[in-house]
Order: sequence, then structure tokens, then C-alpha cells
Amino acid sequence: MIPDYSHKEEHIMEDKTLKCKDCEAEYVFTEGEQAFYKEKGFENEPTRCPNCRKARKQQRNNDRNSFRRF
Ligand SMILES: [Zn+2]
Repeated sequence: MIPDYSHKEEHIMEDKTLKCKDCEAEYVFTEGEQAFYKEKGFENEPTRCPNCRKARKQQRNNDRNSFRRF
């Protein structure tokens, strides 16, 4: 008898490798991050690698708080 694996849980997520649309670097969209995105209700996967995301975030912060220094 062949074991039936079709009932394997389908909501288990796996790490995904994505390509950054800015620098074209490949990066891992981890299972934990996917869960985080889901929890936040984001339907889209990130399009940028963590470095580019950080850079953009910093840029935004700089624009907004250019007068404030840490
Ligand atoms: Zn990038």
C-alpha cells in the first residue's frame, strides 16, 4: 500500500528566492517574512532585496526628517 501524502498541509510555506528589481540581486524571501507579509495583509511579494528596501526606507526617512539627526 502506498502511503497517501495528499493530505499534507498546504499552508506550510517555504523560503523563496526572488530577484530584486533594482539591483537584480537574488535574495531569499524567507518563510518568516512571508508569514509577516501575510499577517500585515500585504498581497504582493517584495520586489526589492533587503538592501534596496533599506536604502529606500532610509531615503524616505531622510526626506521627511532631513532636519533631524540621530
Ligand atoms: Zn536590490
